Parts: sequence; C-alpha cells; structure tokens
Amino acid sequence: MIVENNVPLQPYNSFGIVARAQQLVRISDESDLAALRADPQWRDAPKFVLGGGSNIVLTGDVKPLVLKVEIKGLRLVEETPRAWIVEAGAGELWHEAVEWMVRNGYPGLENLALIPGTVGGSPVQNIGAYGVELQDRFESLDAIDLETGRAFTLDAAQCAFGYRDSVFKHVRSGPNDFGLAGRALITRVRFRLPRPWKAVAGYLDLERKMAETGNFTPSAQDIFDWVCAIRRAKLPDWRVLGNAGSFFKNPTVTPEQCAD
Ligand SMILES: Cc1cc2nc3c(=O)[nH]c(=O)nc-3n(C[C@H](O)[C@H](O)[C@H](O)COP(=O)(O)OP(=O)(O)OC[C@H]3O[C@@H](n4cnc5c(N)ncnc54)[C@H](O)[C@@H]3O)c2cc1C
Repeated sequence: MIVENNVPLQPYNSFGIVARAQQLVRISDESDLAALRADPQWRDAPKFVLGGGSNIVLTGDVKPLVLKVEIKGLRLVEETPRAWIVEAGAGELWHEAVEWMVRNGYPGLENLALIPGTVGGSPVQNIGAYGVELQDRFESLDAIDLETGRAFTLDAAQCAFGYRDSVFKHVRSGPNDFGLAGRALITRVRFRLPRPWKAVAGYLDLERKMAETGNFTPSAQDIFDWVCAIRRAKLPDWRVLGNAGSFFKNPTVTPEQCAD
C-alpha cells in the first residue's frame, strides 16, 4: 500500500475540476484495505471513496484520505438454465465491463452501455438508462465496512434500491438504521443476467432505431451499438467537454397526472 501525497484529481473527475487529494491510496484488492486498517495513522482517518469521478462535483482540495478503487476482474461465476451470474471488480470501467459481457455471450446490460464511471459506483445510485436499471440485473455485492474493516455481502433487498437511490446514499441515523453513505467500500458486484435473453427495446429512441434500420429483432450487440450511437449524439464526450450527464431526476407522477 502506497500513500501518495498531493495528487491532482483533474484526470479523475468527469468535470475536469482542478483539485488535489492531500493523500490518495489506490485500492487494488482487499489487502490494501487491511493494510490501511493495520496502520494507526490511517485506521481511523476520514476517508472518501472515489470511483470514476463521474457523479461528483469537487469544490476544492479533498482533505479526507482518498481511496481510489482500482479492483479489477471480470468472470462468469455461475451459469444456470435461467441466468448467467457475472462478477466484476469494483474498479472495472462500467462501459468496458458491459462490452466484455455482451462480447462474451452474457447479454443483459447493453441498455446501460456508455454510462461513465466504475462498476463499484453503479449500485450507489442504481444507474439506469434506456429502459433498464441496475437493480433489474443485480445479484449481490461485496463491500468492506470502513469503520470496522468487516467484509459483508448485500443482496438487492439489502441495497434498498430506489430510483437513482440505494442504501449507499443514506447516512445512518440510529442503531437500527442501515444507511451506509461514506461508510462502505464496494469491492465486487455480481449481476444476474436472465436466460433466455430478451431485448428491452420499448424506449422511444430504440423504437426509432428499429424503424430507421428495419431491424425489429435486434441482438444484444445491436442494442449496445444503438445505445452508444444515441448517447454520443445526445451528450458531449466528457473527456473533451467536462460534464456530469443529466443533473435532474425524472419526477414521479400519479397515473392521473400522467394522463392529464
Ligand atoms: C456524461 C455522463 C452521462 C451519465 N449518464 C448516466 C445515465 O445514463 N444513468 C445514470 O444512472 N447515471 C449516469 N451518469 C452518472 C454516473 O456516470 C453514474 O452515477 C456512475 O455510476 C458513477 O460512478 P463513478 O464510479 O464515476 O462514481 P464516482 O463519481 O466516483 O462516485 C459517486 C459516488 O459513489 C461513491 N462510490 C464510487 N465508487 C464506490 C465504491 N466502489 N464503493 C462505495 N462507494 C463508491 C462515491 O464515494 C460517491 O459518493 C452519467 C454521468 C456522466 C458524466
């Protein structure tokens, strides 16, 4: 484990905001976290978990110890007649993980192609796009409690997924409360990809692609390619023009309001 000092964070946030981490540690596996806990200087120090930096706005230099999650690994862990279970390290880039799954015959996440950030960041706000949310394909995740060093596993119910929401966005407010904001570092995520695969193509932009191309039975690769093309046409590339995607959440309305 190496603690780096005065590290520029501009390359590590999609806005490209100029800021520095006073100290930063790259977390490549669980042993890096164990080493931090074993060091009295860092054991109880305030910490900030950084994934791909695509859903944060830095307002200045970061004083807590930055834990930059770089845990790698992509593998099929189980195959049943009903699903493929694929595990990804939290530091894998989300889009590259989705691309790997589609290319290797484990489809199901193609509607979420080209979302920036890491696999570990994806459950935090239950990412969603083009008719699919993470929770629709989620099996479980592994994490480390940064206060106790304890490793734990959560299923979907325990993650308390909601619309762009999860237990990782809520602060624990009492002994019976399970808020994990700022407290957990997600190390690995497992996805349940249903078999047989069925296209989710009801989103208006995807229906337009079907009409344009005359392809009404798209493959997972077709949907992956269409979603990438649609997203590239809609949003500037954050590597060229810094941004954080959409800032708004869609409002929730009653069926009556919707019909109105
Ligand atoms: C151009 C653009 C388009 C986008 N489009 C979409 C979209 O279509 N749908 C959508 O839902 N979102 C979208 N986003 C938002 C963003 O990409 C996602 O929220 C993404 O999952 C954030 O992941 P990250 O690794 O970048 O997290 P970061 O920005 O690094 O961190 C975000 C939060 O998650 C925490 N966190 C990150 N990694 C971990 C971990 N391993 N363990 C514990 N906590 C962690 C951080 O502490 C922080 O609180 C978009 C963003 C951009 C810039």
